[in-house]
Amino acid sequence: LESFKNIEPIGEGGFGNVFKATGKLDERTYAVKRVEFANNVKREVKELARLDHENIVRYYFSWKGCDRVPSPDSGQKSDEVLCLFIQMELCEQGTLENWIEKNRKDRKYHEMAQNKFLQILKGVEYIHSKELIHRDLKPQNIFISHEDKIKIGDFGLVTSVTSGTRSQERGTELYMAPEQVGDTYGKEVDIYALGLTWFEILSACSRHERSKIWRDVREGKFPDSFTNQFPIEVPIIKKMLSRDPSGRCSASQILDFFKSVDKDNSFKTHTQ
Ligand code: ATP
Ligand code: MG
Repeated sequence: LESFKNIEPIGEGGFGNVFKATGKLDERTYAVKRVEFANNVKREVKELARLDHENIVRYYFSWKGCDRVPSPDSGQKSDEVLCLFIQMELCEQGTLENWIEKNRKDRKYHEMAQNKFLQILKGVEYIHSKELIHRDLKPQNIFISHEDKIKIGDFGLVTSVTSGTRSQERGTELYMAPEQVGDTYGKEVDIYALGLTWFEILSACSRHERSKIWRDVREGKFPDSFTNQFPIEVPIIKKMLSRDPSGRCSASQILDFFKSVDKDNSFKTHTQ
């Protein structure tokens, strides 16, 4: 409260409340995420702080402080509890989920969508190159900046590839790889979530439509209309959704694929 003005809530998820706030000194507007303090929440800032990539939300600073937080069940404010505050880049255009909803009827939607997915891949390739697993990739955790650039956010479940502990904390079940319920898995869980995200971007279906077909989609079974519309992408998305994690391709391999099809331009023409 001392350092910021114009504080407004902009979002909440499973654990955090996110505010938009302008620095009193620098006059810049940031996103500030507040999570109840626990040992494992330090990981989010520790890992986010060492990432530096144009498709990852930029981290600025973090601090501890006491605040009253709404209870997830009743929404009623608690007594003051110790919280961790994370100051980061504000992504003015909100989540990818909203972006899909807003743009799905646009004539150039598929061209824009392909470009967005490419940026997501670059961000994920970078995260994996740092030996990290995001574990909670989904359109609600991928943001868009005011310059229309993809920024992967919500590192609340990030973990290192070498870290021994896997169970307890979990990603969103809808996007969670089948093996993620267990305690041995790796980067491939992110590829599975990306496969679903790619399907969601391309199909641009509403939440309601999605819920009807999601169980099949998770098994790589797509509606015929989708398979007919995206004959080039479907085999890769299916591979990304392989039940066996070793059957999934890496983010770098998918990027190489994009480059190769871009060369003969068939991909571009197809998606326009
Ligand atoms: P966790 O999964 O750790 O519980 P969460 O889901 O509670 O996290 P986030 O996903 O980080 O928290 O943020 C919740 C919502 O706040 C997002 O869905 C989004 O609407 C908004 N938000 C978060 N970070 C930003 C940002 N940098 N810029 C703009 N909006 C943001
Ligand atoms: Mg989230």
